Amino acid sequence: MTASTADRSVVVGGGIVGMACAHYLAGAGHDVVVLDRAEIGSGCSHANLGYICPSHVLPLNEPGAIREGLASLFNRRAPFRFRPQLRWGLYRWMVEFARRCTHAQMVEAGRRLQPLLDSSMHEYLDLFQVLEGSGEWKRAGLAYAFRTPEAFADFAETDALLRDTYGIESSRFEGSDVTGFDPALRPDLAGAFVYHGDGFVRPESLLRQWREHLAGRGVDFREHCAVTDVRSDGGRVTGLGTARGDLAADHYVFAAGAWSPWFAAGLGCRIPIEPGKGYSITMSRPSRCPRHPMLFPEHRIGIAPFDDGYRIGSMMEFGGYDTSIPDHRIAHLTGSAAPYLQEPAGAEILETWYGWRPMTWDCLPIVGRVPGLDNAVLATGHNMLGMSLAAGTGRLVAELVSERPTHIDITAFSPNRFA
Ligand SMILES: Cc1cc2nc3c(=O)[nH]c(=O)nc-3n(C[C@H](O)[C@H](O)[C@H](O)COP(=O)(O)OP(=O)(O)OC[C@H]3O[C@@H](n4cnc5c(N)ncnc54)[C@H](O)[C@@H]3O)c2cc1C
Repeated sequence: MTASTADRSVVVGGGIVGMACAHYLAGAGHDVVVLDRAEIGSGCSHANLGYICPSHVLPLNEPGAIREGLASLFNRRAPFRFRPQLRWGLYRWMVEFARRCTHAQMVEAGRRLQPLLDSSMHEYLDLFQVLEGSGEWKRAGLAYAFRTPEAFADFAETDALLRDTYGIESSRFEGSDVTGFDPALRPDLAGAFVYHGDGFVRPESLLRQWREHLAGRGVDFREHCAVTDVRSDGGRVTGLGTARGDLAADHYVFAAGAWSPWFAAGLGCRIPIEPGKGYSITMSRPSRCPRHPMLFPEHRIGIAPFDDGYRIGSMMEFGGYDTSIPDHRIAHLTGSAAPYLQEPAGAEILETWYGWRPMTWDCLPIVGRVPGLDNAVLATGHNMLGMSLAAGTGRLVAELVSERPTHIDITAFSPNRFA
């Protein structure tokens, strides 16, 4: 659908979510400018694992999360970790998160998330038809592999929940059969579940190719252009102050990921997002490189085999906007892959990285109009699933900006829920 006049939309934040917003706004006929404080795609969307996984409906607030979080206070090497800080916002966030760690709330959050995950997969499949390189997309399925029979049996309950409640089917491989699925796995594992509906991209390839595609359609990307000020009047945003001068538009989309709380004062609303820090290491491909992306939940890590590289990533640290990459965290990643893979590491290290996931306390994204500001939309808080949820979010944002009905119910994603 085309806008009646070429409205101008500014998207603040050039991560995967901002990119998707730009795509659908341009598709709706808008003149689109994307602003980023650094390089486009240099935030959390850069070196994550790239899973596009509709099977991943269950949020982080699972019943065992509190126990694990409390234990981590005394273990700086724990993969899921709360680091104490003298900051009221973090404690409020933790309390709200903990309140939601019940089976019933976990299942309900999954029900809210599933339509957006499915919509995103649908939109991505359309995108990959036209995007040159397709971000190295492969619908290879996503495997969950387990070392111990206890963990495998526990996950069988989760698998049954996924099947019975959400209709998500898997295949089950027992013991040494796992090597028939992927010969890179060790034969002494307890087993694996594989979700064939999932796939993966190489995030930095997708961002680069998508940017080129949109630039070719007239989207204006401005790097090193931090938004420093939001001005509003009469229930509308009237302009932005940026590191490269003032900018005015008809519509404003705020897709700044983990940085989003910095816009709360200017937008006059609450944006309770905490950075959930994760790490990755990208290496050359081992000679026995896995063929499939895989998660190893007992060690809370995942791997992704790319055309020209191999990545191990994960961890979840709540400790503020910390930019360090401690050696022991990177060593943990390679060490944790060893119990599962015949050859857990590549010979050459290409990149070590951290990213701040934009975490909300209910693990649901924030997608909706900013309360009290008619021409401003928030698209943030995509937690651990920004890659998986971006395309559907972009479509929603274009629908909101164009004042069309949204293609799925977004009540649960409303910024108003924090009022
Ligand atoms: C180790 C790891 C593995 C992950 N694996 C997966 C996965 O397999 N699948 C999946 O779905 N998700 C995964 N994620 C989560 C995913 O990476 C995030 O949810 C997603 O990248 C968030 O995208 P975003 O666009 O909201 O944020 P970002 O990519 O962080 O983008 C926000 C952008 O806003 C810009 N910005 C901030 N402030 C301003 C300002 N004032 N002015 C202008 N620009 C500004 C920043 O520079 C940044 O580029 C993973 C995360 C980690 C850490």
